[in-house]
Amino acid sequence: MKKILSLFISVVLILSMVISVSAANPGAALKASANSVAVDGKVTLTLSLSSIDAATSAYVDITIPEGLEMLKGESKWLAEGLIKDISSSDASLALGAEKALNGNVLKLVFKGKTASADAKKISAAVQVKKGSKQVLKTTVTASVKVICKSHSYNDWKITKEATCTAKGSQSRSCSVCAFAETKAIAAKGHAYGADTVTKQATCTAKGVKTAICASCGATKNTDISALGHKYGNWETTKEATCAEGGTQTRKCATCNGVETKSIAVAGHKYGEAVIVNEPTENEPGLQKKTCTECGNVVEEEIPATGIDSNTNTNTITSSDNTISSDIEDIVSNIEIEEGNTTHVWVIWVIMGIIIVAIAIVVFIIDRNRKNK
Ligand SMILES: [Zn+2]
Ligand SMILES: [Zn+2]
Ligand SMILES: [Zn+2]
Ligand SMILES: [Zn+2]
Repeated sequence: MKKILSLFISVVLILSMVISVSAANPGAALKASANSVAVDGKVTLTLSLSSIDAATSAYVDITIPEGLEMLKGESKWLAEGLIKDISSSDASLALGAEKALNGNVLKLVFKGKTASADAKKISAAVQVKKGSKQVLKTTVTASVKVICKSHSYNDWKITKEATCTAKGSQSRSCSVCAFAETKAIAAKGHAYGADTVTKQATCTAKGVKTAICASCGATKNTDISALGHKYGNWETTKEATCAEGGTQTRKCATCNGVETKSIAVAGHKYGEAVIVNEPTENEPGLQKKTCTECGNVVEEEIPATGIDSNTNTNTITSSDNTISSDIEDIVSNIEIEEGNTTHVWVIWVIMGIIIVAIAIVVFIIDRNRKNK
């Protein structure tokens, strides 16, 4: 029984704690529409209340600092006719019946009057009651700075030096209201000195020249183009001959690099032909020519001078004599001389003698056979 009672008490305690946490305390806040206002400019302050579920009366006392002037007040209390005017520095209200008081309850418009370097603090003392019981009593504040319409600036002061690559900044402030104006200073850019050759260019490779910034030590490299070879004149290092090509070279005065090109084969230069064997009617002859440069000799056949040029042989070896070719030659010679009648008559006599001789031999042989 004791245990159940103690459990019940602890549940009640926990519940009461939860309820007290979830039900927020009544509160007030004062917010300005801007942090600063120029002389003759306007700024609005709003008073808001929260978590006030039931109230019967409320009282607000506004403290207006020097340099600001209150133009008018707007309120839902004003709209509801509960209060007549908020032109003075305080407003009070009797609600009569219990009412909830939440949200933006009071709107106050101020005008900038005199500029000064320090911010002005506006405060609102708020008191809310339910009957004789005090629901809320607090003072809330908001800061507003009154600045000049037209500033009286001091000289610009550099607040951050510009470097070669980064912007700097400078600012000036008003001697009356301390309003500060800031503007950027452009990056200076590098101040490069003269170029120094850091890598010499060669005939075939690029070089490099470098400049150094006097301000920050940054370096800038620029290419130097390759110089190219400086060749001397072509020199013949191997003469071309009748049968072989030659070579020419030239040398670079800077790097001793050598360039080579070839000379074409010259070819033989043959002189006049010299006859070694005169051709005959039937046999070809032979002639030779000699190169005036290298002494090389070539032999050439001279065709036989014979009548029928078609029967002429073109090779030296085929001119060997034979008996049969002699007879042919004789016959051909005889035939050529046909026009001569004396020769024809002699041929007929010779042929007749041969025929008679053959007949006598045949007769003697026949008679000897019969006598046996
Ligand atoms: Zn100023
Ligand atoms: Zn630099
Ligand atoms: Zn070279
Ligand atoms: Zn030759």
